Amino acid sequence: MTNGGAEGLKALLPSDATARLQSLRLADGRATLVLDVTGLQGPARDALEAAVKQALQGAPGVAEVRVAMMADKVERKIIAVGSGKGGVGKSTLAANLAVALARQGRKVGLVDADIYGPSQARLLGTEGKRPVAHDNRLVPVASPWGVPVLSMAHLSDPGQAIAWRGPMASGALTQLLEGHWDNAEILIVDMPPGTGDIQLTMMQKFKPAGALIISTPQDLALMDATRAIELFEKGGIPVIGVVENMAGYTCPHCGEVSDPFGAGGAEAAARAMGQTFLGRIPLDIEIRRESDAGNPPAAGEGPQAEAFADLARKVSEWLEGKARR
Ligand code: ADP
Repeated sequence: MTNGGAEGLKALLPSDATARLQSLRLADGRATLVLDVTGLQGPARDALEAAVKQALQGAPGVAEVRVAMMADKVERKIIAVGSGKGGVGKSTLAANLAVALARQGRKVGLVDADIYGPSQARLLGTEGKRPVAHDNRLVPVASPWGVPVLSMAHLSDPGQAIAWRGPMASGALTQLLEGHWDNAEILIVDMPPGTGDIQLTMMQKFKPAGALIISTPQDLALMDATRAIELFEKGGIPVIGVVENMAGYTCPHCGEVSDPFGAGGAEAAARAMGQTFLGRIPLDIEIRRESDAGNPPAAGEGPQAEAFADLARKVSEWLEGKARR
């Protein structure tokens, strides 16, 4: 059959396949299509291929349909969100940074590598959802905020504590980072606090583009944060900057601002270490309440959302500046 036959076949394709069609040839009864599947995850690719085959199978002159798929390789940047100790709001910051970046049009995925207390499923409102595997790789769980997520919690039975040891923890981290992230250009990784196997694997095997350090204003938290900064620097990972969380509490009754954990400590410590200070997130009962309910404040309106949006802009600028250097 001639090229006219191939043209005729095009008309039979479903519209989502037509939009992605790179070429279609018909020769010796075999229709060969090349589709650009950039941005589609595994199951969606399978569905597209099945729809194309169904549309063309049995068409005049077609004995066999072959579908080849190609996708743009996304250059993905990893940002590690770390802290010296637990309970400083690292996971909350990681989730809201990811949501704020997505809101600003970035394609973001979130990896919950916090083996001690994986909490991203709750923070992003995806509790109870489990990822499927495709081609032996995990497909991230979609969240209502446009940020797909994979968590250490997804690799164990719900509610069951696992004592992750060295090689096992590293293997688990690898499964999360090598999931089907497809078109995600940024992966935010919620690291476990402190300095352990996950940190080493992360730095040696996955080479984050940069690290964010979260601290509360107290001296003790800051001393731990200093250690986290030193760890990343030793591993050759640039520190993007320090974020002070739980700064300045606004009394919901009288409006007076108090500083239960002190004020300005993280900024002074960051400066003393030659690090960039990226800003403050206030101690705010709304942040805790909404986060626990799976509604990231970064997805809402008001000053909390603006604080996370500001952080996201700074991180984007840092990434762009790095790309230009
Ligand atoms: P980490 O990951 O450092 O262990 P989490 O993100 O789990 O810390 O936060 C610990 C607790 O503090 C959570 O209950 C969280 O909702 C709360 N929290 C975090 N940041 C804030 C904030 N800025 N204001 C109020 N509560 C916060």
